Amino acid sequence: MSLFQPHTLTCPSCAALTPVEAVNTVNADRRPDLKQAIADGAFQVFPCSACEAPIRLEPLFNYLEVGAGLWLAAYPARQMPDYLEVEDDVSAVFDETYGAGAPPVARGIGDGLSVRLTFGWPAAREKLLLRANDIDDTLAELLKLDVLRRLPEAPLEPGIELRVTDVSEDKITMRWVDAESEEVIDEFAVARALLDEIALSPEGWAPVRAQLENGPFVDMQKLYMGQGRAAAE
Ligand SMILES: [Zn+2]
Repeated sequence: MSLFQPHTLTCPSCAALTPVEAVNTVNADRRPDLKQAIADGAFQVFPCSACEAPIRLEPLFNYLEVGAGLWLAAYPARQMPDYLEVEDDVSAVFDETYGAGAPPVARGIGDGLSVRLTFGWPAAREKLLLRANDIDDTLAELLKLDVLRRLPEAPLEPGIELRVTDVSEDKITMRWVDAESEEVIDEFAVARALLDEIALSPEGWAPVRAQLENGPFVDMQKLYMGQGRAAAE
């Protein structure tokens, strides 16, 4: 089931208060409309009760799509610097619901799920897009790192991130976006075949892949954020 909870929004334009139902659990297998709304940027957007300006809630929900093998915890962009603590919280929630601490039936479902954590709307949308196109999201992060090495100038800085925003048969489109405002700074496309090239040399990428997959926050930005989590023994 998809769960909702009451929440009060403050309008950034006129300061009026609007009571809304915030979603804290999305079951995408049963509610494909919610999945589509996330992809379209229409999810958790409410009109102000006074001036009708659209107001969007920050992402803060768990997303389950058994058909795609994905369990995702979506958090606000501003919490990314605390990703290690959030990873611990998220891993504990997953363990209780579909992991080691869950009843056998739920554990059986959990075995088929990848656990992921994202910060901000662009990141959550990207994970769903990659899944929908059968692209390994870690491979997509490796592609970004590969692309970064080739770019003469990259606007990489806190709050500005590189996201896959479109996938076609032969191209992958990426955008530099502000994770909070979603302002697009730049857009470019690379050949989808680059993914295959990276996949064909797993040894060379193994250490970085291990770092990316050490915890549910699978995002190249973690490589730029301090020491990170100690490697598992
Ligand atoms: Zn308003």
